[in-house]
Amino acid sequence: MIYLDNNATTPLDPAVIQAMIEFMENFGNPSSLYPIGRRVKEKINECREIIASAIGAHRSEIIFTGSGTEADNFAILGIMDACPDKKELITSSIEHPAVLRTAQYLEKKGYKVTYVPVDSYGVIDLDFLSDAISPQTALISIMHANNEIGTIQPIEKVVEIAKKKGVLVHTDCVQTFGKIEVNVDKLGVDLLSLSAHKIYGPKGVGALYIRKGTNICPFIHGGHQERGIRAGTENTIGIVGFGEAVKVLKERWKKDKEKIEKLSSKLKEGIESRIPLVKFNGHPENRVKNTLNFAFPGLEAEAILLALATKEIYVSTGSACSEESEEVSHVLLNIGLKPEIARSCLRFSLGRFNTEEDINIVLKELPEIIEKLRSISAFHPEEV
Ligand SMILES: *Cc1c(COP(=O)(O)O)cnc(C)c1O
Repeated sequence: MIYLDNNATTPLDPAVIQAMIEFMENFGNPSSLYPIGRRVKEKINECREIIASAIGAHRSEIIFTGSGTEADNFAILGIMDACPDKKELITSSIEHPAVLRTAQYLEKKGYKVTYVPVDSYGVIDLDFLSDAISPQTALISIMHANNEIGTIQPIEKVVEIAKKKGVLVHTDCVQTFGKIEVNVDKLGVDLLSLSAHKIYGPKGVGALYIRKGTNICPFIHGGHQERGIRAGTENTIGIVGFGEAVKVLKERWKKDKEKIEKLSSKLKEGIESRIPLVKFNGHPENRVKNTLNFAFPGLEAEAILLALATKEIYVSTGSACSEESEEVSHVLLNIGLKPEIARSCLRFSLGRFNTEEDINIVLKELPEIIEKLRSISAFHPEEV
């Protein structure tokens, strides 16, 4: 199998599997005061420390959640709840559904949401953002890098603009953590979302960084876990896996980055030189380099995806969350692609376990598939 869908999810690192298995027998409730419970609590706090230090935070600023999606929901709804006299949110037009749908939910509740547009590379319009801020604005939520096209946003500049007007900033770092530097002080943000299963950890666990002193309302009501703002007995094994995944990242993210960038540029150049009329989507430089999104004009991406799958090559048409619905990617439409071009786009996302051989095979199979599909479709290159 050649797995090129690492932005959708990643395989568990062997060290993560090992750490989770080792901890599975300890069933203690971390809230219990006797030794087996205390040991679990200590382990959770070790993991909290590992994750906090990886992003330059203090461990008291990390709240474990049930997913990256929950971290995004928590950040946005928790801040809006904490600022009852401010009814405005600013976000971008190309956010992950975890943010976009939360924004739409707020709109239904009577909040005003401004969606900052992006240019053809997917970079937000900072002047538009600056003009959109009003005394009513409670929060700006802009993703660090986009999951479909990889474009990195100028978060530091967003923060600079926001601070002048006293507005809080949240950023979804699910696609950047482990790929580029994510540091809460360098970015300057107040809230930041992470997810374990995009960094070779388990599914069903995420984290929200909340800068010390930020006023936020509880998201899940119940016991005193997670400072009482995200109640519920902790996902112990998931958190152990998350902590281990970050430990592994610390040792090897630079090496991984180097290898992935090399393989990714080989794949990019190979596709561009072997397949006529492909169009690359996203920023040429300023993007997470593991992500390659291409339009194959004249074809339906799904047909290519399925043909690749018969060769055990797994890619995606974009956001996994929109895969089941018929709608065209909002990201690709918002960078200005026509719907028929957007429907021809495939995302290749590389990860730690890809090899040079994987890329060689894709570069052999893909051009043949495209040629064959184009020959049986009514493809007219002159119309592209
Ligand atoms: C995957 C992803 C999420 C959601 O994380 P889950 O843990 O799967 O809920 C949020 N934002 C971005 C950018 C993502 O890629």
